[in-house]
Amino acid sequence: MQVYGIKGGAMAKKVMVVEDNAMNRLLLKDILKFHGYEVIEALNGEECIEKARRELPDLILMDMQMPVMDGFEASLLIKKDPGLKNVKIIAVTSLAMHGDKEKILESGFDGYLAKPIDTHKLPELIKKLIE
Ligand code: MN
Repeated sequence: MQVYGIKGGAMAKKVMVVEDNAMNRLLLKDILKFHGYEVIEALNGEECIEKARRELPDLILMDMQMPVMDGFEASLLIKKDPGLKNVKIIAVTSLAMHGDKEKILESGFDGYLAKPIDTHKLPELIKKLIE
């Protein structure tokens, strides 16, 4: 069943972008908005958990390398949180971490994307996970 919002379209799903780099954050936000998602932003893992508890996103795009709290730690805490454990998490990694894909998927992430972000793959993967 589809839920309709005031404007008559399907209610927008919420995607949280967790990324410490402002340029990457802006790029991801633009792609997501273009595809009709509501976007929430967080600059590190700690902020991600705090905002996720409040906003209950449908999916999180999680950068792995961030200050304060990295993506691995934040995702672990989210998957342990009874209120958040069903939120889908896509790991976003830099090319420097090439070869870590298996380690990432074994860590309980629902998907994996390498930087630079493929602007076609990103919405396809999100759609597969939450629609
Ligand atoms: Mn980073």
